[in-house]
Amino acid sequence: AVEITDLHKSFGPVEVLRGIDLRVGRGEVVCVIGPSGSGKSTLLRCVNVLEEPTSGTVVVDGTELTDPDVDIDAARRRIGMVFQSFNLFTHLNVLNNLTIAQRKVLRRSQAEAEQIGLANLERVGLDGRESAMPNQLSGGQQQRVAIARALSMDPDLMLFDEPTSALDPELVGDVLAVMRRLADEGMTMLVVTHEMQFAREVADRVLFMDAGVVVEEGPPEQVIGSPREERTRTFLSRVL
Ligand code: ATP
Ligand code: MG
Repeated sequence: AVEITDLHKSFGPVEVLRGIDLRVGRGEVVCVIGPSGSGKSTLLRCVNVLEEPTSGTVVVDGTELTDPDVDIDAARRRIGMVFQSFNLFTHLNVLNNLTIAQRKVLRRSQAEAEQIGLANLERVGLDGRESAMPNQLSGGQQQRVAIARALSMDPDLMLFDEPTSALDPELVGDVLAVMRRLADEGMTMLVVTHEMQFAREVADRVLFMDAGVVVEEGPPEQVIGSPREERTRTFLSRVL
């Protein structure tokens, strides 16, 4: 579903991504781990072109997003993104958070958008909370609403950028459980995470990034369980 080839990204003189190759097949879950500043968020943001790559290609489901003639908005509609900060509309209740993009971007009717939004709210374990305002929910609940909102757009691909790192420890499990269920349902997922247990159990493949390159890549039992590279071992000894 995703094919990234020789991706480079510079901010001014600083080259943050230095030739990334990455493939995520349909239904695959790929976790990206690595130290702070290694370029993980920049990589995700290049996948849906929130950042414009300096060079290289990003192809999602056959559409080259790096082609200047491509309709980026249309392509981006198929990509859901969940950030560390939940980014809900604080002045809208849960249901309206779930329906607004469906109506404005996909032009769904209010009734259809509500039906789809409520179904996804149930999918993340929050049925009955549609009238709540975001600030009446815990961080973990808000993050699950953010996931339900992304799912309501029928994405082919979900990008997660450290979705649990802003949460109190006791709220992390519920969000990871939702992500695990999505993975089991066959969603294609690219997940930046510090949750090594999650990566070990859910990822089909793990990428370790450092300083803008993929240092090591493979099944989780190899990259996390018995890393080949010294830099991977050093990183893991700090986080495990
Ligand atoms: P973290 O684990 O802390 O989230 P990360 O691996 O996600 O780190 P990025 O956020 O991708 O790292 O940042 C990689 C490098 O790019 C950092 O040195 C950062 O300062 C720099 N950077 C990111 N965005 C910009 C920007 N818009 N302008 C300038 N520099 C940027
Ligand atoms: Mg980041």
